[in-house]
Parts: sequence; C-alpha cells; structure tokens
Amino acid sequence: MSFLFAHRRYALPFRVPVRTAHGPWAVREGLIVRVTDATGAVGYGEIAPVPRFGTETVDEAAAVLQALGGQIGETQIAALPVQSSSARHGLCVALADCRAGSPNPAVSGAGSKSSRAVAALLPAGREALGAAAAKAELGFRVFKWKVGVGDNDEELGLLDELLARLPGGARLRLDANGAWDRRRAERWLERCAERPIEFVEQPIAPAARGADDLLRGLAADFPTPLALDESLVHDGDVERWLAAGWPGLFVVKPALLGDPAAVCAQLAHARANVVFSSALETAVGAQAALRPAFAWPGERRALGFGVYPLFADARFDGPPAAPFVSATDVAQLNPEAVWNALS
Ligand code: MG
Repeated sequence: MSFLFAHRRYALPFRVPVRTAHGPWAVREGLIVRVTDATGAVGYGEIAPVPRFGTETVDEAAAVLQALGGQIGETQIAALPVQSSSARHGLCVALADCRAGSPNPAVSGAGSKSSRAVAALLPAGREALGAAAAKAELGFRVFKWKVGVGDNDEELGLLDELLARLPGGARLRLDANGAWDRRRAERWLERCAERPIEFVEQPIAPAARGADDLLRGLAADFPTPLALDESLVHDGDVERWLAAGWPGLFVVKPALLGDPAAVCAQLAHARANVVFSSALETAVGAQAALRPAFAWPGERRALGFGVYPLFADARFDGPPAAPFVSATDVAQLNPEAVWNALS
C-alpha cells in the first residue's frame, strides 16, 4: 500500500537563544511531515535535525522529501541515504501513526496515570544558582547544568555553590557538550568523585583525536558515571558502543534516530542505562520521543525534557516543564494543531 505525504518547513525562534558550548542557538529549523492513506487516516512526524551534532541539514532533509515526490512506503524509506536519519525518523513516525489510523495514538506501555520525573534544565554559568533555587521550589529533584560554556575555573568554583542550593537528595547532572579536553575532564571528574553528581554527559567531543579511547579511559578511572550524547548521532553508534561494553549511560534523543524503536530494543536487550532526552523539537517530535521513554523497561531516570516553554510561539511547545510528565500530558499533544499553525 502506498501513502501520500506533504511537508511544511518551519523556522521557529526560541524564546531565549539556547546557550551551548558551540555558541548561541536562536532559531530551530525543521520540517513537519503529514502522511495520509486512501481511507483518510492521517499521521504526523517531525524532522528536527541538529547538524552540529552530525545529522543532515534541514536543506538536505527537504531535498530528500522533494525527491520522493509525495509518495512514501517501506520501500522508499529503506532506500533513503544512510545519513538521512532525521528524515527517516520523521517519515517512519508519520507512516506508523497513519497505519495506526490516528495522528495521536495512546502512549504505548503506559497507563493513563503513569508519569515520569523530568530533569530541570539550568542555564550555564552563575545564572544556574538562582534558577536552581526556583526549580527546587517548583518540586524538581533532578537538575542538569551546562558546563564548558564560560571560564573553566569559574565554573568549577560554582559547582559547590550550586550543590549547596539544591534540596537534600537532589541529583545533579553535568553536560559538557564535548567542550573539555582530557586535562579539564580529569579536573572535573576528580572534583565530582565525592559529590552527588548523577553523571557527566559527553566530557570529550566525539570528533576529538582518540575520543573513544579517552572516554573509555575516563569511565574506567573515575567513579562518576559518564553519559554519551553527541557520540550517539547515528543508529549504528549505539550498536558500536554496546558492542564495546560501554559501562556508562546512553543519552537517547529519539528525534535524531532514524529508527528509535530498533535502537531502544537493542539497548533494552543489553540492559543499558538510558536517559531519554529532547532534541529541542516541537510538540510533534516531543510526542514521538516520549513514547519510547514511557515504554522503556529499564531504570526510569528523569527525562531530559525540561525544555518547554521553548519557542517564542507557544503553539509549538511540547509538555510544559514540570517535575513530572504524565502519559496523559503526552497523549494530549496535538500534532494537527502544529501542522495547522504552519499553514
Ligand atoms: Mg547533552
């Protein structure tokens, strides 16, 4: 059976530019795909690439859609270029939803009352201190702080101040976004060793020379767990790190995976330690990304979805950042409304 699809491109300014180790990020670009069949069933998917992570660009994804000429099926998806993981993701999700006969199927593996903790995202630098107190007041107990953004000594000096602001029993995650070299990573990991740090995310950039060996060495030498994020851009990366016996965590951004269901099955089979995370997508992609998170059979770590409200135009936001997100919140996200808002 062949399906028809249309797509709409978006360029959505963030409410506040996102500060990362690679500089500010002001506008989120991507595509929404709408798949229909002869019976009138509809499905939506989002293509939200992050080229600085190593995915295709939005232009490349748009060209892939253009070349398909408005028809999609398993054969066409299987024939997509390997590097088109974001396009594959959006088309797979939309096609599966269309097959399910509804653009908004219930969150699988979750009763309507089930919920997951969400990690509060703290701004980089000293601003994190005030933000942490405010988020703790709201009830958050897991916090994530971006490091490797400002001056290294100043950030190291802020760590204890930040920990002192967190409520008892709180967990802090650090995300270096690959900004450190070996010496900086070692200094931080020495400092973290006796502190309640849940994990340190991507201390070394995947493109750094000998990065894989360096990451494995750091994981073996220090007690604080390490998490891979930027190292896991393509579906095959997860398989490779699993085969190498990676002892740390896997940050899974379903929006960046061509086939998140297959990758999650590999991770579950290996009993891997997984953290599900946003790729700063709209409500369409957030709904698709939260489904495998709710279905995950392993340890339920706080979700990296504390990013909304994210867009200047709130119609595109995923579930508002709260200490918990429920299956009902996810089911209530409305892909059709996002599609219509782009007309
Ligand atoms: Mg990260």
